[in-house]
Order: sequence, then C-alpha cells, then structure tokens
Amino acid sequence: MSNTQRTGHKVIPIVPVGPMDSAIAADPEMVSLYEAHKKIYPRSVSGLFQNWRWVMVWITQLVFYGLPWLDWGQRQAVLFDLGARRFYIFNLVLYPQDFIYLTGLLVVSALSLFLFTAVAGRLWCGYACPQTVYTEIFLWIEKQFEGDRSARMRRDGGRLSADKFLRKGGKHLAWLAVALWTGFTFVGYFTPIAQLGSELMALRMGSWEVFWSVFYGFATYGNAGFMREQVCKHMCPYARFQSAMFDRDTLIVTYDEQRGEPRGPRSRKADPTKLDLGACVDCTLCVQVCPTGIDIRNGLQYECIGCGACADVCDTVMDKMGYARGLVKYSTQNGVEQNWSSKQMLRHVARPRVLLYCGILLAIVLAMGISLVLRTPFKVDVVRDRGTLARIVSGGKIENVFRLQVMNATEANQEYRVSVSGMDGIALASEDHFTVDSTQSRWIAVRVQLPYEAAKPGSHPIRFDIAQSGSDEKVSEKSVFLVPR
Ligand code: SF4
Ligand code: SF4
Repeated sequence: MSNTQRTGHKVIPIVPVGPMDSAIAADPEMVSLYEAHKKIYPRSVSGLFQNWRWVMVWITQLVFYGLPWLDWGQRQAVLFDLGARRFYIFNLVLYPQDFIYLTGLLVVSALSLFLFTAVAGRLWCGYACPQTVYTEIFLWIEKQFEGDRSARMRRDGGRLSADKFLRKGGKHLAWLAVALWTGFTFVGYFTPIAQLGSELMALRMGSWEVFWSVFYGFATYGNAGFMREQVCKHMCPYARFQSAMFDRDTLIVTYDEQRGEPRGPRSRKADPTKLDLGACVDCTLCVQVCPTGIDIRNGLQYECIGCGACADVCDTVMDKMGYARGLVKYSTQNGVEQNWSSKQMLRHVARPRVLLYCGILLAIVLAMGISLVLRTPFKVDVVRDRGTLARIVSGGKIENVFRLQVMNATEANQEYRVSVSGMDGIALASEDHFTVDSTQSRWIAVRVQLPYEAAKPGSHPIRFDIAQSGSDEKVSEKSVFLVPR
C-alpha cells in the first residue's frame, strides 16, 4: 500500500522497499524510505596516516589484551571485582563509596572527547575507536584469506567453489578466534584472568563468564566483520552530536577543490593547464579506500571518520603524476579557504571554546588528583542500631548501640582504635580496638554509655574518631546519642 508525504510544494508517494523497487525505478517521483545497503570493499592503502593507524592498533590492543595479565603484588593490577564490590587500579583500591572517582573519570573522558573533537575533529574515530581498530584487524585478516578489494569483489560475485568455501571458512574461523579471545579478555577485567584461563582449560568456566565472553565476542565479530561502517553511520551516538563541537578551525579531512577542479583523466605527461584541468585525475581511489564509502570531493560529510586513508592514497597518485601532495589533506575550513600554513592553523587552536574545555578539564583533574592524594586509606560509616534506640543498663547508665562499617582500602591487615566524644561523661562500653583484613570491610558493634541524668532527654550530637594504628590516619564521623524521657 502506498502512502503520501508533502515536501514543500510537491507530493511524494512513499512506498516501502522490496517488491515496490521496480515501481520506484519506473517513477522518479517515488522515493524509498530506506536506502538499500551496498557492501563496501575498502581497498588497502599505505602511507603516513595508515602507519599511524597501525601504531594505534598496536598500542590500544597491547594495552587491552595485556593489562589483565599484569600483576600488582599478589593480585591483578586492574580488576573490577563486581562480586566483592572492589575496583583495583594499580595502587588504588576503590569501594562503592568511591563512586565519585569513577563519575569524575567519566566526566573527564567526556570532556577530553569534546576538547579533542573541537581541536582535531574525528581523529579518535579514525585512529583509536574500538570499532575502527577491530575493523582494521578484521580487514587485514580478510585480505590474507581473500585478497584485496578487486579479488574480494570478484569472489563475492562468483559461484561457490571449493576455493571460495575454504577461503571464506578460514577467514570466519580466524575472525571468530580473535573475537572470542577479545570476549575472554573483556571478562578478564572482571574475574581474575589467570583463574579464568585455568577454568577455561578445565572447561569449567562459570555460566556468566561464558555468557559475557560469547556475547562480547559475537558483538566484536558482528561489528567488525559485518556491520563495519554501519555502526559509525547509524549506531554511534558520537557521530550524531560531534558536529556540534566542530567549528571552522577544527581539523578535518578536506579536498582542495580550488586546486583539484575541474577533475578529469589525463596522461602522466600531459600539462593539465593546457587541458584546462585541475589536479584531480578522477581515479576514484579516494572513494575506493574509504571505509565508509563516501567521496571526500563532495565536501565534509557526517559519515567521514577522519581516517586519512583518502589523503594517503591521493598523495601516492599525486606522487605518480609528479604533482604536489596534499590535494586531499588534514586541514581546517578556514585553512583551506584562506590558504593558511600549518603554523597559521596552529595559532587558531587556542580559541575560546578550546580554552574553556581546557580550563574545566584542568579544574576537574586537579580536584580529583588532590582528593585522591588526601584520601584516607580507610572509610567509616556509622549506623545507629535500629533494634535498640536507647536503654538503661546496669550501673544506671544510658546506652546507645551503633554499628560501624570500617573499610580497609589498603592491601595489608590494619588495626584501628575508636573513641567517642561530644558529651560530658560519654564513653565506650565495648572493645575500642579491632582489626580489619586487607581490602576488606567489617561491621563492628559499638556500645556507648552515658551516666544517667548527665544530659537532658532528646538527641545530642556526638563524634566517633577512628584512628589507624601505627599511622596518623584518622577519620571522624558524626552521629547522635539519644537520651530517653
Ligand atoms: S585520489 Fe586524488 S586524484 Fe584520485 S580521484 Fe581522489 S582526489 Fe582525485
Ligand atoms: S572520506 Fe577519507 S578520511 Fe573520511 S572516512 Fe573516507 S577515507 Fe576516511
């Protein structure tokens, strides 16, 4: 069934894709709501930016795959132990009460991304985003089994043969191996990876660990093997809002239209000025290498992830033709329009929006750093015992019971001493010292007594001081002492 949509003055019939495709082709007034997916076969490329991408692939993957295997004392250096509710990051042991630091880390990451985008556009997308990095790895594997772009296109268009079956089967097995290892490594950030490895060898991994390894592995397999540019174009939220951070001085990949047009093929020896041609030889290599399948010569497009593959390949074309490099290059809108040099563009980096991002970022990082340095190596929560508000005990004293949760954030057993103050005659009637094991928390029941008639009925503020033995570390927590009528 067809529908209609009013656009300006023209009424366009809306038809679904599929059986109506022929109707769309026959009637130029008809448009489909959905674009048919065209598979992209990126041609491999070499050059400066491609080398940088591989440097980033190595760095990010060495960190990702290697970090869980790094030990720190008796434990894994980075471990998010959700079961025990402890996060270990090298020297740091964080409790749920330290959630503020994780929130701060997220804010710093988001602000860094804003700052980076305002200055350098989508360099993160083109070089360090996991989607780009895994797509690059999967493309490399694909090339080893199936060859470069033209061979892959030929094979995909051809009939199924033993060779095609073996090559495609081998590729998928290699993809699956990388994807499952990635899933296993991901789970290794939440369960000690050495223990996970021995469980895997003995085929007795827990059901949740199996689920998350397979889930994350298949997400990697699907995203890097099949979805590829679709993730960047349609799923990534960052692609949607990053243009809000762009301005005319943001670094982008640009095509120098003034120099390149009019485009057209010519022999290497021909003089383009005599043929009235610009520097672009219209070889379409920049389109063939593009992982998102766009033509950078059409200007800045939201699909462009700033990977610089088109700049690399165009430079090789320019070299072969004997023309100056940089027909496609990293530049800024102002830089291209006003023919600025790199130095002139650099001078425009420090603009108000960038300085503002830097200022906020610096303030948050400083605040977090100072707070981390001054952080006590243990935490205390005081909770009144709900079962007993106040009672009269032998000796004619009023007694309140409190529960102290003491969290030892160090990696050694610690002894603590507790004292109470705030009212005349107030004293502890229970043990005043106790031990908490390394990185553990312990609930301690504390009985506090006050001589009868030492205070009026009602609630009175008091203070608990908890000191760590053998150090100057001390935590004070407020509470109230109830005197009954
Ligand atoms: S690679 Fe360079 S020369 Fe070839 S079509 Fe693209 S812009 Fe033109
Ligand atoms: S247009 Fe160029 S920089 Fe943008 S995604 Fe395509 S190849 Fe990468």
